[in-house]
Order: sequence, then structure tokens, then C-alpha cells
Amino acid sequence: MQSEAFRNHAHDLVDWIANYLDQTGDYPVTPQTQPGEILAQLPALAPDQPEAFEQIFADFEKIILPGMTHWQHPSFFAYFPANASPPSLLGEMLTSALAAQCMSWLTSPAATELEQRVMEWLREAIGLPKQFQGVIQDTASTATLCALLSARERESGFSINEHGFTGQRYRVYASIEAHSSVEKAVRIAGLGSANLVKIPVDSDFALQPQALQAAITADRQAGYTPLCVVAAWGTTGSTALDPLSEIADICEREKLWLHVDAAYAGSGLILPELQELAKGIERADSLVFNPHKWLLTHFDCSAYFVRDAAVLEQTFGLTPEYLKTAIDRQVNNYRDWGIQLGRRFRALKLWFVLRSYGLTELQLLLRNQISWVQELADDIDAHPDFERLAPVPLNLVCFRYKPEQIAEAELDKLNAELLARLNATGQLFMTHTRLNSVYTLRLVAGQRRTQREDVRAAWEQIQTTAQTLLANRA
Ligand SMILES: *Cc1c(COP(=O)(O)O)cnc(C)c1O
Repeated sequence: MQSEAFRNHAHDLVDWIANYLDQTGDYPVTPQTQPGEILAQLPALAPDQPEAFEQIFADFEKIILPGMTHWQHPSFFAYFPANASPPSLLGEMLTSALAAQCMSWLTSPAATELEQRVMEWLREAIGLPKQFQGVIQDTASTATLCALLSARERESGFSINEHGFTGQRYRVYASIEAHSSVEKAVRIAGLGSANLVKIPVDSDFALQPQALQAAITADRQAGYTPLCVVAAWGTTGSTALDPLSEIADICEREKLWLHVDAAYAGSGLILPELQELAKGIERADSLVFNPHKWLLTHFDCSAYFVRDAAVLEQTFGLTPEYLKTAIDRQVNNYRDWGIQLGRRFRALKLWFVLRSYGLTELQLLLRNQISWVQELADDIDAHPDFERLAPVPLNLVCFRYKPEQIAEAELDKLNAELLARLNATGQLFMTHTRLNSVYTLRLVAGQRRTQREDVRAAWEQIQTTAQTLLANRA
């Protein structure tokens, strides 16, 4: 593609993008695509001859776009959001333009030093002590794996990296509500799923510290070596907040690594009033949260903070001759702060976001979303046919439809049907979980474009769809 053609296509694309951003809400949130439908429209082999960009773009609009879920839709209430924003998009465009590989300081000094600075900004913004140092990872899953590997190496005197396991029997602890990435990390770190001890939760779905202590004590008696606790600050199911102070007390006493998985909720720590709820987080060894979930920064951008960066570097540092540079001792080489060698320039979009909004605007946005969901929670509580199923500390509400005339045994099926009907409208998208094995509807209002009216409209639609569903059954 010649420069002039690129310029023209790029201008056209920017117009297309700006229109899309204005009109995202006009698309069905989820497509009505059947499995295999997109695949069938794509040729089995790559083209032999060059194709015109116009043709490629036409196929994007015809084949790809109708098969997309629109994560930036104002009525995207599913999972957790993967937020984006215009400044973040512009940052991503420049990252693409530079197409730098930011593995070492020397391979892009500005990328390294900007990453260091924006991580310091985030550290201050969420109220972490200065001792913590941050690095951008691709995902929280990767960060949690880094934490477990660091814990393993610190505990073994960095010997497992060297010799492999020599009979250690480590145990990792997390609540039954912990994210599946914890178990995946336990597997990859060679510890074995069977050595992930799942601790029961209280009626608010937060880890029970007494049960944690009891499990650790029992494990020591049985000859295991307790290694690490992964506390959730904001579980995926219901944003339950594990009691970090009490967990930190236990970890200190037992000399265990404390990793805090705040993948979603951690962005909320830019609100001083929420920092109160996270007391104890400053005593963690490591913590992760995803600006790519709630803080308007494009996927992928996961902020990983560690109390002792030397442990991280000692765990992951491995410098072959061809990567050695004269200034290695004076700079951060982020290739040694995680798993992968090659790294994207992710700090740029985060810098654009933090500067374009400023903390005040971001705080306002998060506060609004939280207040709309608290309002919805009150409405659910006030409605005789709906039941709220978990506390609402942030902007996720868990609930179910529970009309008087339907027996408990029928409720799971009824709610699954309600969810399917709601999502089939294409006007909103919600997902479910199980809490105490009860089928639970989740509504997260964390999308940047979501307004109070969208949350109100969703609640109206939930009520009318539920009534119709009930009437059809009778
Ligand atoms: C979303 C989520 C994760 C996984 O995040 P990735 O960045 O996709 O790996 C982990 N833990 C919690 C609590 C989450 O909500």
C-alpha cells in the first residue's frame, strides 16, 4: 500500500470510527449469529493475488461487523466491561504507528520511562505506599501467575527456577469465589490444582479469615508448606470484598505472600471513599487491577504492583548476551518484570486517558455509575417479585426474578429463560453466575457511555419481560 493510498484509507477509517463511536448504541448489543455462520463466509485459503482495500473493508462491514458483540454499547451490562475511550483509542493509534517493541529500556527509552511514570501516577491515585512499583502486564491472569511464581521463588530461595521441584508441597489459598485465573496460575506454576485450597465465604461472599487460618494450621500439621493467599477485592461473581486487613494479619503471622486480585474493582480505588473499604491492601506483596476493565483504557492494560521489585526481577530476569546493554543497572528492563520478552507500548494510551480526563472526571464517572446501580438495587429491594442476592458495594447488582407463585425449584430455569429473552432483544446484554448455587442475574453498569436512563430502561425491560414470561407460562 502506497503512502497516498494509506493516507486516504486512514482518513476514511477515522470518519468511520467517529461515526461508529456516535452510533454504537444503535447496533444490537449481541449479534444473532449462529455458530459457523461467519466461518462459512470466509474463503478456506488466503488470497493468492492482492486485493483492494475497498474490497477488504466492504467484507469487514458485510461479514465481520454483523458478527460482533458491541462492548462499547451503552447497554452492555454483561461480565465486566472492557472499557475504551477516544483518548485511549488515539493512544492506540500512535502505538500502532510507532510499532515499537518495548522489551528493554534501549529498545524504546521513552516507552519504559513513561510506563514507570504512569504506574507511579496510578499508585498514588489508588493510595498505595511509595514502596510499590508497577509494571503493565497484558492481563490480570498473567499478573496473578507472576505473583505465584514470585512467591514460589522467594519461598524456595530461587531454587525451583534452577532445579525444579525437589519435594516441596506448597499450598495456595483463595476463596471459593476467586476467579478461575487463580487456579490456572496454580496449575501453570507447577503447584497443582489439588493444592489450591478453596476457603469458604460468609453470607456476603467474602473470604472467612477464621477458615483461612484453620486451613493453614491444618496444612502445616499435615506437612504442607503454605505459600500464598490470593485475596479478591471485588469477586467476579458479585464484587465481594475479601477482608484484606484480617487476611494481611494472617499472612504476616504465617509469612505468606499476599496477592490481591482487584482486577475489576481496583480502578474504584481512585475514589477515596472506597480506599476505606480496602484497608490492608497496603500490606500486600502484590496486587493487580485492570485499567482495561473500568478505567477507560483499551484492552490490554493490566496494572501489576509489587512491594519488592527485586523479587520480581530475580524471578523473571534472564539476560542472554545479545540483550545485554551497558546501562542495564541504571534502568528498568520490563522484559525482566514478567513472562514475555516482547512488549507492546501500552503506557501511551493510559497516559492519554489519565491526562485527557484527569482524576476528577474519572472519579465523577465511577461515582455516577455506582450511584445508578445503588438506585437500581433499592428498586429491586422494593419490588415484591424480585430478590437481590448479594451486597452492592460498587456498580454490580446480583438479583433474580422470584414471583410468589413460582416454586423455588423452578426459579433457576425461569431466570435462565428471562435472561435469554432479554438478551435476544439485542437491546441490552447481561450475564449470569451462581451464588450459593442459585442462578443469579448480574447487571454491571460500568460502560463509559452508559447513562442513568440506560440503567432505568434496562430495569423497565427486565420487569416487563419477566411479566410476559410469567403470563406465557400460565
Ligand atoms: C476479569 C477478572 C480476572 C481476569 O482478568 P484478565 O485480565 O482477563 O486476565 C481476574 N480476576 C478477577 C476478579 C476478574 O474480575
